[in-house]
Amino acid sequence: MLGAVPDRLATALADVVGDGHVLSDADVVAGYTVDWTRRWRGPAALVVRPRSTAEVAEVLRVCRAHRVPVIPQGGNTGLVGGGVPSASGLGGFPVLLSLTRLADLDPVDKTAAQVTASAGVTLAHLQDAAKSAGLAFAVDLAARDSATVGGMVATNAGGIHVLRYGGMREQVIGLEAVLAAGQVISRLDGLIKDNTGYHLSGLLVGSEGTLGVVTRARLRLVPRLGERVTALLGLAGTAEAQAVVAALHRALSTLEAAEIFYPEGLDLVMAHAGLGAPLGRRWNAYLLIECADHTDPTEALADALASLAAAGGPAVASDGAAVASDAAGRAALWAYRERHAEAVNALGVPHKLDVTLPEARLAEFETSVRAVVASVAPAAQLVLWGHVGDGNLHVNVVGPPPDDERVDDAVLCLVAGLGGSISAEHGVGRAKMRWLGLTRSPAEIGVMTAIKNALDPDGLLNPGVLLPAALSL
Ligand SMILES: Cc1cc2nc3c(=O)[nH]c(=O)nc-3n(C[C@H](O)[C@H](O)[C@H](O)COP(=O)(O)OP(=O)(O)OC[C@H]3O[C@@H](n4cnc5c(N)ncnc54)[C@H](O)[C@@H]3O)c2cc1C
Repeated sequence: MLGAVPDRLATALADVVGDGHVLSDADVVAGYTVDWTRRWRGPAALVVRPRSTAEVAEVLRVCRAHRVPVIPQGGNTGLVGGGVPSASGLGGFPVLLSLTRLADLDPVDKTAAQVTASAGVTLAHLQDAAKSAGLAFAVDLAARDSATVGGMVATNAGGIHVLRYGGMREQVIGLEAVLAAGQVISRLDGLIKDNTGYHLSGLLVGSEGTLGVVTRARLRLVPRLGERVTALLGLAGTAEAQAVVAALHRALSTLEAAEIFYPEGLDLVMAHAGLGAPLGRRWNAYLLIECADHTDPTEALADALASLAAAGGPAVASDGAAVASDAAGRAALWAYRERHAEAVNALGVPHKLDVTLPEARLAEFETSVRAVVASVAPAAQLVLWGHVGDGNLHVNVVGPPPDDERVDDAVLCLVAGLGGSISAEHGVGRAKMRWLGLTRSPAEIGVMTAIKNALDPDGLLNPGVLLPAALSL
């Protein structure tokens, strides 16, 4: 697989990380160069696996000296092609920089409710450590066993608890990162207040590997809430689900998750996972709610739903609700929502369009996107689900070939026309770069380009992700 890359690059990298951590065998490299959806793939010269911040810095210096682009990769669960090489072999074969060996997790600081995690720590590992200390990490998402701290910072991951705690940006107190020329910047002191100029850590959150390589993060932890109730509600549609979520948000401080899915997705999950129907009959929309507190939140949730119905809001029918407060029952209800992604992947290679709409336009979008996809790709299967509490829907289309972008274009133009954003939480990556101008102005893109040029003047890091490649390597 080394192809045109001089052997001396591999030798120089092996001098930094050791022979065993420079991978060039074609079969091994192939495991890193295709993304989770299988839509995004491209050639890499080799994979390099450093163990420390100092090794990351030295790897970047070597790649810069050899004029070879670098693609940072964590758990490779990203859904916009940002962590794998470009199919066009842009800028020559890049080096794929895997951060998974940066897996150190410091002891939890219980007094500050903070922890320092290296970039390769998985979300599940971080959650377990926080739990052992009587605390919790606020961000949660279905890819928790593989997604890494570095990847979650780089994508500003959202997930199922954004409506209560915010996304990754709100959890990052400070970062350590290596810039393209090998300089290390570090703010791991855990200071909550620090008004000393530009917030460089904040700049790196959501930068998708284009500004620097995140090596460690100082993260906020939240109280661990031991009592939970999960409810799956059958409703007449998206607008009704939004009304329920808005009412619960006003009435309860315990609301932690509000997820939506639809009958076509439920059918797919039931067939894929061999699950029975969760409710007595079929509904137009399914709303999964979770509340968490120090004391059992079940009664308060029931009261809030009853008050909503009494006030003329959507009523939950007796055959339209399933409720669980034990761990097994809650996991069974969550499976209907969390197994959507794998069920769609089993159908074929999906076009994944993660979008966000103003609350007032979400229901209109849900109807319109069905018509738009049917007209552009009549034979395609459309499956929608998302974080309805955040106005965020995941539009999944299976059928059009991976390189046919007509459906992507139609959906993203619809989103922009309704005042939404073309990416809610997955980022721009390679998948949406050409549409960035739909929802960011020329002035904003100009500033982003200036920042990129200031921090990475040679265009070493992730060329062609987020912004067009401007290689001067
Ligand atoms: C089943 C499933 C469910 C998901 N659910 C959600 C969800 O609810 N919410 C959500 O937001 N996302 C979700 N995702 C997407 C994905 O899990 C997140 O984007 C996650 O943050 C990616 O982490 P990763 O370690 O896998 O990063 P990767 O996929 O390896 O990389 C993602 C991006 O980050 C960059 N990067 C990775 N590590 C570093 C680093 N150390 N320094 C600099 N740049 C780096 C890469 O270059 C790439 O641009 C889901 C994915 C799957 C497969």
